[in-house]
Amino acid sequence: MLLRGVIRGAGILLLVAGFCAAQNMDEARRIQATVLGVDTHNDTAQRILIEKVDIGQKLSDGMVDLPRLQEGGMHVPFFALWVPAYYPGSEAVRRTLDLRDAMQGVFDKYPDRIQLATSARAIERIVGQKKIAAVLTIEGGHQIDDDLGVLRMYRRMGILSMTLTHFRSNHWADSSTGKPEHNGLTDFGKQVVREMNRIGMIVDISHVSDKTFYDVLEVSTKPVIASHSSCFVYSDIPRNMKDDMFRALAKNGGVVGVNFGSSFLSQKDADALKKMISQRNAMEPNLTGAELDAYAAKEHAENGEVHAQLGNATVEDAAECIDHIAKTAGIDHVGIGSDFDGVPSVPQGLEDVSKMPNLTAALLKRGYSEKDIQKIMGGNFLRVVREVVGE
Ligand SMILES: [Zn+2]
Repeated sequence: MLLRGVIRGAGILLLVAGFCAAQNMDEARRIQATVLGVDTHNDTAQRILIEKVDIGQKLSDGMVDLPRLQEGGMHVPFFALWVPAYYPGSEAVRRTLDLRDAMQGVFDKYPDRIQLATSARAIERIVGQKKIAAVLTIEGGHQIDDDLGVLRMYRRMGILSMTLTHFRSNHWADSSTGKPEHNGLTDFGKQVVREMNRIGMIVDISHVSDKTFYDVLEVSTKPVIASHSSCFVYSDIPRNMKDDMFRALAKNGGVVGVNFGSSFLSQKDADALKKMISQRNAMEPNLTGAELDAYAAKEHAENGEVHAQLGNATVEDAAECIDHIAKTAGIDHVGIGSDFDGVPSVPQGLEDVSKMPNLTAALLKRGYSEKDIQKIMGGNFLRVVREVVGE
Protein backbone atom coordinates (compact mmCIF):
# COMPACT_ATOMS: atom_id res chain seq x y z
CA MET A 1 0.00 0.00 0.00
CA LEU A 2 2.78 2.33 1.04
CA LEU A 3 4.78 1.41 -2.09
CA ARG A 4 1.79 2.15 -4.31
CA GLY A 5 1.44 5.54 -2.65
CA VAL A 6 5.10 6.33 -3.27
CA ILE A 7 4.81 5.29 -6.93
CA ARG A 8 1.69 7.42 -7.37
CA GLY A 9 3.46 10.38 -5.71
CA ALA A 10 6.47 10.02 -8.02
CA GLY A 11 4.15 9.81 -11.00
CA ILE A 12 2.43 13.04 -10.02
CA LEU A 13 5.81 14.72 -9.53
CA LEU A 14 6.92 13.63 -13.00
CA LEU A 15 3.67 14.92 -14.48
CA VAL A 16 4.14 18.28 -12.77
CA ALA A 17 7.80 18.46 -13.93
CA GLY A 18 6.71 17.63 -17.49
CA PHE A 19 3.99 20.28 -17.35
CA CYS A 20 6.50 22.91 -16.08
CA ALA A 21 9.01 22.03 -18.80
CA ALA A 22 6.31 22.36 -21.49
CA GLN A 23 5.22 25.70 -20.02
CA ASN A 24 8.85 26.87 -19.92
CA MET A 25 9.26 25.92 -23.59
CA ASP A 26 6.06 27.79 -24.57
CA GLU A 27 7.36 30.87 -22.75
CA ALA A 28 10.78 30.49 -24.46
CA ARG A 29 9.13 30.33 -27.90
CA ARG A 30 7.02 33.39 -27.10
CA ILE A 31 10.10 35.40 -26.04
CA GLN A 32 12.23 34.16 -28.94
CA ALA A 33 9.53 35.39 -31.36
CA THR A 34 9.94 38.92 -29.97
CA VAL A 35 13.74 39.25 -29.70
CA LEU A 36 15.91 41.05 -32.22
CA GLY A 37 18.30 38.14 -32.58
CA VAL A 38 21.91 38.89 -33.48
CA ASP A 39 24.39 36.07 -34.12
CA THR A 40 27.84 37.50 -34.74
CA HIS A 41 29.37 34.52 -36.53
CA ASN A 42 28.38 31.90 -39.08
CA ASP A 43 30.39 30.32 -41.91
CA THR A 44 27.48 29.90 -44.29
CA ALA A 45 29.10 32.11 -46.97
CA GLN A 46 31.52 29.21 -47.61
CA ARG A 47 28.61 26.94 -48.44
CA ILE A 48 27.06 29.55 -50.71
CA LEU A 49 30.29 30.09 -52.67
CA ILE A 50 31.69 26.55 -52.77
CA GLU A 51 28.65 24.27 -52.59
CA LYS A 52 26.28 26.74 -54.29
CA VAL A 53 23.60 25.95 -51.68
CA ASP A 54 20.38 27.94 -51.93
CA ILE A 55 19.73 29.31 -48.43
CA GLY A 56 16.26 30.44 -49.51
CA GLN A 57 15.25 26.77 -49.03
CA LYS A 58 15.17 24.85 -45.79
CA LEU A 59 18.28 22.73 -46.35
CA SER A 60 18.50 19.12 -45.22
CA ASP A 61 22.07 19.63 -44.02
CA GLY A 62 24.14 22.43 -42.48
CA MET A 63 22.87 24.71 -39.74
CA VAL A 64 21.77 27.99 -41.34
CA ASP A 65 19.29 29.05 -44.03
CA LEU A 66 16.63 31.74 -44.27
CA PRO A 67 13.71 29.59 -43.02
CA ARG A 68 15.71 28.34 -40.03
CA LEU A 69 17.03 31.82 -39.18
CA GLN A 70 13.42 33.03 -39.01
CA GLU A 71 12.35 29.98 -37.00
CA GLY A 72 15.12 30.55 -34.45
CA GLY A 73 14.46 34.30 -34.21
CA MET A 74 18.01 35.13 -35.29
CA HIS A 75 17.23 37.93 -37.72
CA VAL A 76 20.69 39.49 -37.80
CA PRO A 77 23.27 36.87 -38.79
CA PHE A 78 26.85 38.02 -39.28
CA PHE A 79 28.08 36.18 -42.40
CA ALA A 80 31.86 35.76 -42.22
CA LEU A 81 33.71 36.17 -45.49
CA TRP A 82 36.45 33.81 -44.30
CA VAL A 83 39.49 33.13 -46.42
CA PRO A 84 41.88 30.40 -45.20
CA ALA A 85 45.24 31.76 -44.03
CA TYR A 86 47.04 29.75 -46.74
CA TYR A 87 45.71 32.20 -49.35
CA PRO A 88 48.67 34.50 -49.83
CA GLY A 89 48.42 38.32 -50.15
CA SER A 90 46.39 39.46 -53.11
CA GLU A 91 44.94 35.95 -53.53
CA ALA A 92 43.18 36.47 -50.18
CA VAL A 93 41.75 39.76 -51.47
CA ARG A 94 40.47 38.06 -54.64
CA ARG A 95 38.84 35.30 -52.58
CA THR A 96 37.22 37.87 -50.29
CA LEU A 97 35.66 39.53 -53.35
CA ASP A 98 34.34 36.14 -54.54
CA LEU A 99 32.68 35.59 -51.15
CA ARG A 100 31.24 39.13 -51.19
CA ASP A 101 29.88 38.44 -54.68
CA ALA A 102 28.35 35.11 -53.58
CA MET A 103 26.49 36.93 -50.78
CA GLN A 104 25.32 39.57 -53.26
CA GLY A 105 23.79 36.72 -55.31
CA VAL A 106 21.63 35.85 -52.28
CA PHE A 107 20.59 39.49 -51.71
CA ASP A 108 19.67 39.87 -55.40
CA LYS A 109 17.72 36.61 -55.51
CA TYR A 110 15.66 37.24 -52.35
CA PRO A 111 15.26 41.03 -51.96
CA ASP A 112 12.00 40.53 -50.07
CA ARG A 113 13.57 38.11 -47.56
CA ILE A 114 17.14 39.22 -46.87
CA GLN A 115 18.96 42.52 -47.15
CA LEU A 116 22.46 43.82 -46.47
CA ALA A 117 22.46 45.95 -43.29
CA THR A 118 25.11 48.64 -42.86
CA SER A 119 23.91 50.56 -39.80
CA ALA A 120 22.00 50.08 -36.54
CA ARG A 121 18.94 51.81 -37.94
CA ALA A 122 19.06 49.68 -41.11
CA ILE A 123 19.12 46.54 -38.95
CA GLU A 124 15.99 47.68 -37.09
CA ARG A 125 14.23 48.74 -40.30
CA ILE A 126 14.97 45.49 -42.16
CA VAL A 127 14.01 43.29 -39.20
CA GLY A 128 10.86 45.42 -38.78
CA GLN A 129 9.97 44.42 -42.35
CA LYS A 130 10.23 40.75 -41.29
CA LYS A 131 13.37 40.22 -43.38
CA ILE A 132 16.78 38.92 -42.41
CA ALA A 133 19.27 41.79 -41.90
CA ALA A 134 22.60 40.37 -43.09
CA VAL A 135 25.80 41.82 -41.65
CA LEU A 136 29.01 40.99 -43.51
CA THR A 137 32.37 40.51 -41.80
CA ILE A 138 35.95 39.61 -42.69
CA GLU A 139 37.57 36.74 -40.78
CA GLY A 140 41.32 37.22 -40.85
CA GLY A 141 43.46 40.36 -41.09
CA HIS A 142 45.55 38.70 -43.82
CA GLN A 143 42.60 39.47 -46.11
CA ILE A 144 43.57 43.15 -46.34
CA ASP A 145 47.02 42.22 -47.75
CA ASP A 146 48.68 44.75 -45.37
CA ASP A 147 46.92 47.61 -47.17
CA LEU A 148 44.63 50.12 -45.42
CA GLY A 149 43.14 51.06 -48.81
CA VAL A 150 41.84 47.50 -49.17
CA LEU A 151 40.40 47.72 -45.63
CA ARG A 152 38.60 50.97 -46.50
CA MET A 153 37.19 49.47 -49.71
CA TYR A 154 35.85 46.50 -47.74
CA ARG A 155 34.02 48.96 -45.51
CA ARG A 156 32.57 50.69 -48.58
CA MET A 157 31.36 47.28 -49.80
CA GLY A 158 29.21 47.12 -46.66
CA ILE A 159 31.50 44.98 -44.49
CA LEU A 160 31.06 46.07 -40.86
CA SER A 161 33.61 44.08 -38.89
CA MET A 162 36.97 42.30 -39.15
CA THR A 163 38.47 39.52 -37.03
CA LEU A 164 42.11 40.56 -36.76
CA THR A 165 43.57 37.06 -37.26
CA HIS A 166 42.50 33.53 -38.05
CA PHE A 167 44.33 30.36 -36.87
CA ARG A 168 47.78 31.72 -37.86
CA SER A 169 49.59 34.90 -36.92
CA ASN A 170 49.68 37.35 -39.84
CA HIS A 171 52.21 40.10 -40.70
CA TRP A 172 50.91 42.41 -37.98
CA ALA A 173 49.03 40.45 -35.29
CA ASP A 174 49.59 37.25 -33.32
CA SER A 175 46.93 34.56 -33.32
CA SER A 176 45.95 32.49 -30.26
CA THR A 177 46.77 29.36 -32.25
CA GLY A 178 49.76 30.56 -34.30
CA LYS A 179 53.42 31.12 -33.51
CA PRO A 180 53.82 34.34 -31.49
CA GLU A 181 55.79 36.50 -33.92
CA HIS A 182 55.16 40.10 -32.85
CA ASN A 183 54.46 40.02 -29.11
CA GLY A 184 50.87 41.04 -29.90
CA LEU A 185 50.15 43.84 -32.37
CA THR A 186 52.83 45.55 -34.47
CA ASP A 187 52.80 49.31 -35.09
CA PHE A 188 50.98 48.65 -38.36
CA GLY A 189 48.52 46.44 -36.47
CA LYS A 190 47.80 49.37 -34.15
CA GLN A 191 47.25 51.54 -37.22
CA VAL A 192 44.71 48.99 -38.52
CA VAL A 193 42.76 49.22 -35.24
CA ARG A 194 42.80 53.06 -35.32
CA GLU A 195 41.67 53.09 -38.94
CA MET A 196 38.82 50.66 -38.16
CA ASN A 197 37.74 52.96 -35.30
CA ARG A 198 37.83 55.93 -37.67
CA ILE A 199 35.86 54.37 -40.54
CA GLY A 200 33.23 52.73 -38.32
CA MET A 201 34.28 49.10 -38.57
CA ILE A 202 34.02 46.80 -35.52
CA VAL A 203 37.28 45.26 -34.30
CA ASP A 204 36.78 41.55 -33.57
CA ILE A 205 39.27 39.91 -31.21
CA SER A 206 38.13 36.28 -31.56
CA HIS A 207 41.14 34.17 -32.68
CA VAL A 208 43.83 36.67 -31.52
CA SER A 209 46.44 35.86 -28.87
CA ASP A 210 45.89 37.11 -25.32
CA LYS A 211 48.67 39.69 -25.81
CA THR A 212 47.11 40.94 -29.07
CA PHE A 213 43.80 41.22 -27.20
CA TYR A 214 45.31 43.48 -24.51
CA ASP A 215 47.17 45.54 -27.15
CA VAL A 216 43.88 46.10 -29.00
CA LEU A 217 42.17 47.29 -25.83
CA GLU A 218 44.96 49.82 -25.26
CA VAL A 219 44.60 51.27 -28.76
CA SER A 220 40.88 51.05 -29.51
CA THR A 221 38.73 54.05 -28.63
CA LYS A 222 35.57 52.08 -29.46
CA PRO A 223 33.99 48.92 -28.03
CA VAL A 224 35.39 45.73 -29.56
CA ILE A 225 33.73 42.33 -29.90
CA ALA A 226 34.69 38.69 -29.62
CA SER A 227 32.39 37.42 -32.36
CA HIS A 228 32.70 33.69 -31.57
CA SER A 229 34.58 32.72 -28.39
CA SER A 230 33.57 30.89 -25.23
CA CYS A 231 34.78 30.34 -21.66
CA PHE A 232 38.30 29.08 -20.94
CA VAL A 233 37.13 27.84 -17.52
CA TYR A 234 34.98 25.19 -19.23
CA SER A 235 37.23 24.32 -22.19
CA ASP A 236 40.93 25.16 -22.17
CA ILE A 237 41.36 25.62 -25.94
CA PRO A 238 43.43 28.73 -26.76
CA ARG A 239 40.45 30.15 -28.73
CA ASN A 240 38.50 30.65 -25.51
CA MET A 241 38.71 33.67 -23.18
CA LYS A 242 39.89 33.84 -19.61
CA ASP A 243 37.89 35.60 -16.90
CA ASP A 244 40.27 38.60 -16.73
CA MET A 245 39.71 39.08 -20.45
CA PHE A 246 35.93 39.14 -19.95
CA ARG A 247 36.37 41.81 -17.29
CA ALA A 248 38.72 43.88 -19.49
CA LEU A 249 36.33 43.63 -22.44
CA ALA A 250 33.46 44.82 -20.22
CA LYS A 251 35.47 47.91 -19.25
CA ASN A 252 35.92 48.64 -22.97
CA GLY A 253 32.13 48.33 -23.49
CA GLY A 254 32.57 45.27 -25.70
CA VAL A 255 30.53 42.08 -26.04
CA VAL A 256 31.42 38.37 -26.30
CA GLY A 257 29.36 36.16 -28.62
CA VAL A 258 29.37 32.65 -27.19
CA ASN A 259 30.58 30.03 -29.66
CA PHE A 260 28.35 26.91 -29.81
CA GLY A 261 31.03 24.57 -31.16
CA SER A 262 30.94 21.68 -28.69
CA SER A 263 34.76 21.82 -28.38
CA PHE A 264 34.37 25.40 -27.15
CA LEU A 265 31.86 24.40 -24.47
CA SER A 266 33.01 21.02 -23.19
CA GLN A 267 36.46 19.92 -22.08
CA LYS A 268 35.57 16.43 -23.28
CA ASP A 269 35.24 17.72 -26.84
CA ALA A 270 38.19 20.14 -26.79
CA ASP A 271 40.81 17.74 -28.15
CA ALA A 272 39.04 17.43 -31.50
CA LEU A 273 39.41 21.17 -32.10
CA LYS A 274 43.06 21.21 -31.02
CA LYS A 275 43.75 18.54 -33.66
CA MET A 276 41.90 20.48 -36.35
CA ILE A 277 43.85 23.66 -35.56
CA SER A 278 47.22 21.95 -35.91
CA GLN A 279 46.16 20.31 -39.19
CA ARG A 280 44.97 23.60 -40.65
CA ASN A 281 48.08 25.47 -39.57
CA ALA A 282 50.20 22.87 -41.38
CA MET A 283 48.52 23.48 -44.75
CA GLU A 284 50.80 25.05 -47.37
CA PRO A 285 49.35 24.30 -50.79
CA ASN A 286 51.54 26.84 -52.62
CA LEU A 287 48.98 27.31 -55.41
CA THR A 288 47.22 30.31 -56.95
CA GLY A 289 44.02 31.14 -58.83
CA ALA A 290 41.60 28.37 -59.81
CA GLU A 291 43.93 25.65 -58.50
CA LEU A 292 44.01 27.24 -55.07
CA ASP A 293 40.20 27.57 -55.09
CA ALA A 294 39.86 23.90 -56.04
CA TYR A 295 42.15 23.00 -53.13
CA ALA A 296 40.01 25.09 -50.75
CA ALA A 297 36.82 23.44 -52.07
CA LYS A 298 38.27 19.96 -51.47
CA GLU A 299 39.32 20.94 -47.98
CA HIS A 300 35.86 22.39 -47.30
CA ALA A 301 34.22 19.13 -48.41
CA GLU A 302 36.49 17.05 -46.19
CA ASN A 303 36.62 18.96 -42.94
CA GLY A 304 33.27 17.78 -41.64
CA GLU A 305 31.60 21.09 -40.87
CA VAL A 306 28.70 20.49 -43.24
CA HIS A 307 27.82 17.14 -41.69
CA ALA A 308 28.58 18.10 -38.12
CA GLN A 309 28.56 15.48 -35.38
CA LEU A 310 26.76 15.76 -32.06
CA GLY A 311 29.28 16.53 -29.32
CA ASN A 312 29.20 15.70 -25.63
CA ALA A 313 28.21 19.31 -24.96
CA THR A 314 24.54 20.20 -24.57
CA VAL A 315 22.44 23.36 -24.73
CA GLU A 316 22.90 23.54 -20.93
CA ASP A 317 26.67 24.01 -21.44
CA ALA A 318 25.97 26.96 -23.76
CA ALA A 319 23.66 28.46 -21.11
CA GLU A 320 26.35 27.81 -18.46
CA CYS A 321 28.99 29.76 -20.43
CA ILE A 322 26.56 32.64 -21.06
CA ASP A 323 25.73 32.65 -17.35
CA HIS A 324 29.43 32.66 -16.44
CA ILE A 325 30.19 35.66 -18.70
CA ALA A 326 27.11 37.51 -17.40
CA LYS A 327 28.34 36.96 -13.81
CA THR A 328 31.98 37.81 -14.62
CA ALA A 329 31.59 40.71 -17.06
CA GLY A 330 27.97 41.78 -16.59
CA ILE A 331 24.72 41.14 -18.43
CA ASP A 332 25.48 43.91 -20.97
CA HIS A 333 28.57 42.15 -22.31
CA VAL A 334 27.39 38.75 -23.52
CA GLY A 335 25.68 37.64 -26.71
CA ILE A 336 25.48 34.88 -29.32
CA GLY A 337 28.24 33.98 -31.81
CA SER A 338 27.22 30.47 -32.84
CA ASP A 339 29.90 29.62 -35.44
CA PHE A 340 27.17 27.57 -37.16
CA ASP A 341 28.35 25.98 -40.42
CA GLY A 342 31.91 26.48 -39.16
CA VAL A 343 32.23 23.93 -36.37
CA PRO A 344 32.60 20.17 -36.80
CA SER A 345 30.44 19.29 -33.79
CA VAL A 346 27.46 20.93 -32.15
CA PRO A 347 25.79 20.62 -28.73
CA GLN A 348 22.77 18.43 -28.18
CA GLY A 349 19.76 20.72 -28.30
CA LEU A 350 21.51 23.35 -30.45
CA GLU A 351 21.96 21.39 -33.65
CA ASP A 352 21.10 24.33 -35.88
CA VAL A 353 19.88 27.92 -35.68
CA SER A 354 16.20 26.91 -35.53
CA LYS A 355 16.87 25.40 -32.07
CA MET A 356 17.52 28.77 -30.37
CA PRO A 357 14.30 28.59 -28.26
CA ASN A 358 15.95 25.67 -26.39
CA LEU A 359 18.68 28.05 -25.24
CA THR A 360 16.13 30.65 -24.19
CA ALA A 361 14.33 27.94 -22.20
CA ALA A 362 17.63 27.03 -20.50
CA LEU A 363 18.18 30.70 -19.59
CA LEU A 364 14.62 31.04 -18.23
CA LYS A 365 15.26 28.00 -16.05
CA ARG A 366 18.30 29.79 -14.64
CA GLY A 367 16.16 32.76 -13.68
CA TYR A 368 17.00 35.15 -16.51
CA SER A 369 14.27 37.70 -17.15
CA GLU A 370 12.78 38.49 -20.54
CA LYS A 371 14.71 41.78 -20.56
CA ASP A 372 18.01 39.97 -19.86
CA ILE A 373 17.28 37.49 -22.65
CA GLN A 374 16.57 40.35 -25.09
CA LYS A 375 20.05 41.71 -24.32
CA ILE A 376 21.79 38.35 -24.68
CA MET A 377 19.99 37.41 -27.88
CA GLY A 378 20.91 40.65 -29.67
CA GLY A 379 20.38 43.88 -27.74
CA ASN A 380 23.98 44.03 -26.55
CA PHE A 381 25.45 43.60 -30.02
CA LEU A 382 23.01 46.10 -31.51
CA ARG A 383 24.36 48.64 -29.01
CA VAL A 384 27.93 47.99 -30.23
CA VAL A 385 26.87 48.41 -33.87
CA ARG A 386 25.22 51.71 -32.92
CA GLU A 387 28.33 52.92 -31.03
CA VAL A 388 30.93 51.84 -33.59
CA VAL A 389 29.27 51.77 -37.01
CA GLY A 390 26.70 54.43 -36.17
CA GLU A 391 23.02 54.98 -36.82
ZN1 LIG B 1 36.59 31.42 -36.59
